[in-house]
Amino acid sequence: VRSLSGRELAGQIRAATADLAARLTAAGSPPRLAIVAATADESSAWYVRSLTRAADKVGIACQVAELVEDISKTLSMLSADPLVHGIILATPLPDGARLAALAEAIDPAKDVDGASPASLGRLMTGERGFAPATAEAVVRLLDYHGVALGGTRVVVVGRSAIVGKPVTHLLLDRDATVTVCHSRTRDLASVTSSAEVLVVAAGRPGLIGVDHVAPGAIVVDVGTNVLESGELTGDVAPEVAAVAGALSPVPGGVGPVTTALLLQHVVEAAGPP
Ligand code: NAD
Repeated sequence: VRSLSGRELAGQIRAATADLAARLTAAGSPPRLAIVAATADESSAWYVRSLTRAADKVGIACQVAELVEDISKTLSMLSADPLVHGIILATPLPDGARLAALAEAIDPAKDVDGASPASLGRLMTGERGFAPATAEAVVRLLDYHGVALGGTRVVVVGRSAIVGKPVTHLLLDRDATVTVCHSRTRDLASVTSSAEVLVVAAGRPGLIGVDHVAPGAIVVDVGTNVLESGELTGDVAPEVAAVAGALSPVPGGVGPVTTALLLQHVVEAAGPP
């Protein structure tokens, strides 16, 4: 099976981002990312740490607001701060909080992870704006590995506002014929096995097995599940490698491209140097 690695592509995106960040800094407007975290959750803390480190490496300054109580107010203040170019609200959120509703307080020009209803509306209508980085990473990874999308039968598993729905729209814009599956889909395998390209973003380790995949299909695994052993695994069972034509690894597939694109969005939001 061909490995759809994201490491090389991520490296290219990071290099271009670092170059632009250096020019912005030299021109007196250093790019700055603000991360807002509302919970003490370990996965949120892990995400904040890894993003801060990645930003630092490409020359983007980071400020982190932790254990924020009034999330909307904090997002509004950062939106009004001329020194901040990109804003990310880390998940998980407190119980009952909804990402899209809170993200409404993020200025769309600074919404580098395309989380707000305004950004998602722009994505659907083809207006300029930031797409959620994970969704964009899926399409960039397929492009990078030369997978043709025009007219292709693509099945997306997952319908979240941050991955499944936006990736569906990005794929439609590329002339793919897209079917979306979710937790209430009847006979998942019969739908997914019709896919020439299968994109899986369900957050269920092992959900996609050999019966779900047509021989030779291109499979992009967006899932990132931390097992009890601490190991990171996707939604696609390892046996799928024996039938698929190509498969993105976890870790090392969509993940590094997502992070690189997020940071690229920050320098884009900071404007031309
Ligand atoms: P989510 O929980 O919001 O959505 C999961 C979706 O999967 C839902 O739409 C649900 O209907 C569907 N689903 C769940 N069980 C299913 C089943 N048995 N059959 C069919 N569909 C099913 O999750 P999310 O935020 O969209 O994230 C999905 C996965 O992608 C997670 O593992 C997450 O960690 C990962 N993720 C990875 C990155 C990255 O950069 N690699 C970024 C964001 C999310």
